[in-house]
Amino acid sequence: MSIPSRILYVNLTDGSSRAETIDPSLPRDLIGGYGINNKLAYDLMPPGIDPLSPENLIIIGAGPFAGTLVPGSAKILITTRFPINGAFATAAAGGSFALMLKSVGYDHVVISGRARDPVFLSLTEEKLELVDAGDLWGMDTYETDDALRSRYEPCSIIPIGPAGENLVKNSITFVDKAGTIGRGGLPAVMGSKNLKAIIVQLGKVPMRMTDRLTFHRLVNRLHDRIMSWPNRQVIQDNGLMPAPPDMSEVHRRTRRPLACPSCPLADKVMVCLDEGPYAGLRTYMPHISAHRFSAKNSTEAYEQSIKYSDALNRYGIGGTNFSGLFYSIVDLYQQGIITREDTGGIELKNDIETALELIRMTAYRKGLGEVLAEGPAEIERLVGERAIGSIAHIKGNAIVRDPRIGGLGTMEFEQMTTPRGAHIAAAGSPSYDPGRPFADFVRHGERMGVSAQALKWLEESGVFNPGRYSKYSEDWYALFNCLSLCNRAQVNRFYHIDTIAALYTAVTGIESSPEELMHIAERAWTIGKLLSVREGFDRRHDHAPVAWFHPLIRSGEEHRITDYDRTTNLTRGDLERFLDDYYDERGYDRVSGLPTREKLRELGLESMAEGLNLPEGR
Ligand code: SF4
Repeated sequence: MSIPSRILYVNLTDGSSRAETIDPSLPRDLIGGYGINNKLAYDLMPPGIDPLSPENLIIIGAGPFAGTLVPGSAKILITTRFPINGAFATAAAGGSFALMLKSVGYDHVVISGRARDPVFLSLTEEKLELVDAGDLWGMDTYETDDALRSRYEPCSIIPIGPAGENLVKNSITFVDKAGTIGRGGLPAVMGSKNLKAIIVQLGKVPMRMTDRLTFHRLVNRLHDRIMSWPNRQVIQDNGLMPAPPDMSEVHRRTRRPLACPSCPLADKVMVCLDEGPYAGLRTYMPHISAHRFSAKNSTEAYEQSIKYSDALNRYGIGGTNFSGLFYSIVDLYQQGIITREDTGGIELKNDIETALELIRMTAYRKGLGEVLAEGPAEIERLVGERAIGSIAHIKGNAIVRDPRIGGLGTMEFEQMTTPRGAHIAAAGSPSYDPGRPFADFVRHGERMGVSAQALKWLEESGVFNPGRYSKYSEDWYALFNCLSLCNRAQVNRFYHIDTIAALYTAVTGIESSPEELMHIAERAWTIGKLLSVREGFDRRHDHAPVAWFHPLIRSGEEHRITDYDRTTNLTRGDLERFLDDYYDERGYDRVSGLPTREKLRELGLESMAEGLNLPEGR
C-alpha cells in the first residue's frame, strides 16, 4: 500500500481553488517536500518567468515524515523562482507549518496569480479563504504573526514584513517567528502577489501510518540515543552557536530554548532583554550576530547585536546578505571609494544607529536602501570594479561559511554548486568542524548511503576531496528535504540510511531499499538542477568568489583559503580542479557543468532533457 498525497491549487487572481490527489505512482519515483515540489515547479512554471509576476508559483510541500514523531521531522519546503538571482530553488524551515498542513489533509499547496488587494490565505480542514489583509499591511513580521495568532491559534503562520511588501529582493521571513525561510526574496514573491501571510489552522486529519509497531520501535530507539547524547544539554544551555566567551553569561541569562514539533534538540532561541536600552525586546534568533559595532563593553555589544537581529527579523531582511553589504559599504566609504554623493548624503559609520537606519531604508527602498534591497551583487554594479571582491557572494547570495576561516569542507564548497547560490542548507555532512580524520568521512559516507563502490574509491584515494564528497553530502541533504527531516548536524548525526529506509517503509508502506532512496534523492536534486539549467545557469555560475583569494583580516590576523585540514593554501586552480572532480562524481559534463543526457537516462529523467542543450555524455 502507498499513501496518496494531496495537492491544493490556489489562484489568487480569481480566488479559485481545487484539490487533487497526486498520481500514486509518483511517490515511488519522487518523495515529498523537495522531490515533488521540484517536479511541480518543472511542469507548471515555464522558463523565463519574472519572479515577481503572477506566473511565478509558491509551491509548499511537506514530506512523508512531517507530522509524525520522527525526531526533527518538522521541515516545510517552499519552491519558487527567487528574485535575488533568478534561481528556481527550494527553501526550508522548521516550525509547525508542515505538521499543521498534514493535519488539514494536504501535502502540497501551489499558489499562483496575484490578488487585487492585500489578502492572507487561511486554510482549515473545511475550507480555504482569502481574507482581506488591509489592516495587516504595513505591520512587521512579528506584529503580523501576533495579530493572526490572536485570532486563529492553534495555527502556523508565514507572514511577510515591510521588506516583502516593498519587493526587497534580499528579503526573508519566518515560520512561527523562529524558523527562517526564503532568503533571497520569497517574501518579495509573496508581496508581488499581495499575499501578506499564509496561515494553517490545526485540523483533525489523523497522521497516516502503515506499520505503527515498527515505527514506534524505531522512533523510541532514536529518542533514547538523542536524550542520552551529552551535547544535547550543551546545545540547550548555550544555543546552536554559542556566544563569544565575553557574552556567554548575558546570553545564558536572556535566552530561552525553543523546539520544533517532534524535536528533542530544541536549538532554536528566543531572547528576552529585560534591562538596558532595549529593555522589553523579545526576539528569535539562531545565534548571536558577530557584529560588535562600536560598543564600549561586551554587554552593550550583546544588546546591540540582539537589537540588530531583531530589526532585520521584523522588517524581514536577510541578515547574512545585509551584514555582508553593510560592512562592505562602510569599508568602501571609509576608504573613500564611495562618498556622500553615492550614499545620498548619509555618513556611513560602523555603529548600531547607522545599521538600523540602513535596515529601515532597505525595507522601504529609500535612498541607498534601493541598492541594498537588491542584494550583494548590486554593490558591484553601483561602485564598479573597485567593489569586486569587497563582498564574497555566489550567485548573488553572500557566503555563509568562509573557507578562509575554517578550511574548504563540503559546507564551504557546496555554496558554489548549489543552484540557489551561497547557502548552508544544501550539504555539509560531516565536515561541520575542521580537522576530522579521513576515516570519519568514510564512516559517515557509509551512514549517508554512499554506494559501496564509491566508498571503496573514496577510501582508496586516502584524502578528503570536497569536490567528490559534496556530491554525496548534497544527495543526503536532498533526501532529508524530501522527507521533511531537519538536516542540521545535531539531528542528521543520529540517522543512518538503513534507519531512514525502515522508517520510510513503516510510514508509507512503500518498500524502498537504501540504494533506491539515495537514487530518488539524487533524482530530486537533479530536477532542482535542471530548473536552473533551463534558465541558463552552468559552470560559469559555480565559480568561487573573488574575495576568497584575497586575505581576510580578523582581529588583526590574516586568513587565507586553505584545504579542509588547514595545512595547504589553495589557489583558484585548486578550486577549479575540485569543481572538475565534483562534476565527474555527479556524472555531469565537466566543461559545461551540465547534467548529461546519459545521466538523465540513468535517473529515469530523459524526458526532461527535451528542449535543453545538454551534452550527450562525458
Ligand atoms: S534541530 Fe532545531 S531546527 Fe532542527 S528540528 Fe530541532 S529545533 Fe527544529
